[in-house]
Amino acid sequence: MLSLEKSLSNRFSLISVIGFILLVGFLANSIISYQVSKENLRAALIEDELPLTSNNIYSEIQRDLLQPIFTSSLMANNTFVIDWLIDGEKDVGKITRYLQKIRDKFHVFSSFLVSEKTKVYYHFSGVSQTISDKDSRDDWYFRVQKMKQSHEVNVDPNPEQNDTLTIYINRKVLDYDGKYLGAIGVGLNFNTLNKVIDRYKKDFGRHIYFVDEAGKVMLRSHGAGIIADNIHSALGISAVAEKILSSDNGFFEYERDNEIILMNSRKIPALKWYVIIEQTESNALKDIQKTLITNLVIGFIVIVITLLIIAYTVNIFQRRLENMAVTDKLTGIGNRNYFDSAFRQALRFRKRDHKPLSLMIIDADHFKRINDTFGHLEGDRVLKELSHLMRKELRETDIVCRWGGEEFLILAYNCTLDSAFILAEKIRSSVEKAALIEYEDHSSVTISIGIAEMTDNDAEDSLIKRADDAVYAAKKEGRNCIRKG
Ligand code: GH3
Ligand code: MG
Ligand code: MG
Repeated sequence: MLSLEKSLSNRFSLISVIGFILLVGFLANSIISYQVSKENLRAALIEDELPLTSNNIYSEIQRDLLQPIFTSSLMANNTFVIDWLIDGEKDVGKITRYLQKIRDKFHVFSSFLVSEKTKVYYHFSGVSQTISDKDSRDDWYFRVQKMKQSHEVNVDPNPEQNDTLTIYINRKVLDYDGKYLGAIGVGLNFNTLNKVIDRYKKDFGRHIYFVDEAGKVMLRSHGAGIIADNIHSALGISAVAEKILSSDNGFFEYERDNEIILMNSRKIPALKWYVIIEQTESNALKDIQKTLITNLVIGFIVIVITLLIIAYTVNIFQRRLENMAVTDKLTGIGNRNYFDSAFRQALRFRKRDHKPLSLMIIDADHFKRINDTFGHLEGDRVLKELSHLMRKELRETDIVCRWGGEEFLILAYNCTLDSAFILAEKIRSSVEKAALIEYEDHSSVTISIGIAEMTDNDAEDSLIKRADDAVYAAKKEGRNCIRKG
């Protein structure tokens, strides 16, 4: 019983140790690969992907501005426009048609001309108005009037078209002597920019912001995390706002709502804006986190299956070993080890139940002669047959084992000396009748049996000694008989 508990606890601790090693190894492996992938992914985001996105947006804007800048140059250098201004702005229909043609041909949102002499703002729609240095919305004109360069790109609400945000290309018109005549140009709406923003949001889950030099958020992608009007007052990003606005491009990292945000900023000089691309780290890591969880689940299943297979295999081998330790190889009945533990158990039962317990020692007669006459293999066969015969005569509760050589022990529980004698006689006569071999004189193998009943004064040794003495007596008294000890 004790050894069973011990072997169970040994098995349990073996499986625990293997399970622990597998688990630690597997967890360490998964976590290390996750960390490595995470670092690689972060590095790729920081060094390649975010800058690439801002570069792409930068290039797309530059490209989109190229054509309107060229168009405005054509307009400013058109002799019809110059002459029309010099000639006193006589036929407004003519300039309106021209502005309309420009708008339609070059697919711009708006086209306009402002005369320095009359301060009239001519619009492609035909609606003209006078500009004034007192209206802050006309500030742009007075800035253009004074600027050194030939053109500027300016983002403003469009007063003629519901104040929608428009990118204006404003260009100076000069006469043939280089004298300032007014300002001409085109306006572009933000549809293209909005499309770019939505595409990056959809494809990469990245939010895009356009921020002016003061940090004011001019445009943002749908569902953007920064909701404040200015990055100086926005949650999280305010910590790095100053740095963003003081460098032409850079990588920044900040925290918002317990989320790490990775971002890249790039200045677009043509607009005097910054494009900011940001992505939550967890969003970027979503895929590898999914892989980690899948790995963990598969790993745990594999570990559990492995442990079950180990437990099953160990169980089988343990049982086989335990069986081998108590079984006699030749006859398949119990061996001496088996007898010892069975005897101890029988003693415990006897102590509890006070039932009689008898022991028989059975010794084959002249066994040497069998070996000498028919050979060892034949001797082995006889030993196997003897064990079968004995087993056939016994009850379930009786124990039979091979004590060694050609000697067997039978422990009969709830059996008095007299009953043991009857049982022994049954065994002796069945062996005799079985005629397991045949000598020339027609005699066969017989057995001598010594029996003894356990008394309260007996220990295991003394009981065996009495039965052994009885066998000796049986041998002495002619063999093939039973004696009580
Ligand atoms: P006795 O009637 O006095 O018991 O004579 P015995 O020849 O049976 O007694 P002894 O103890 O002199 O010899 C026992 C023989 O049993 C000797 C040995 O060769 C044989 N023997 C013991 N174990 C085995 C075995 O596993 N296989 C075979 N074939 N013979 C065995
Ligand atoms: Mg012997
Ligand atoms: Mg013998």
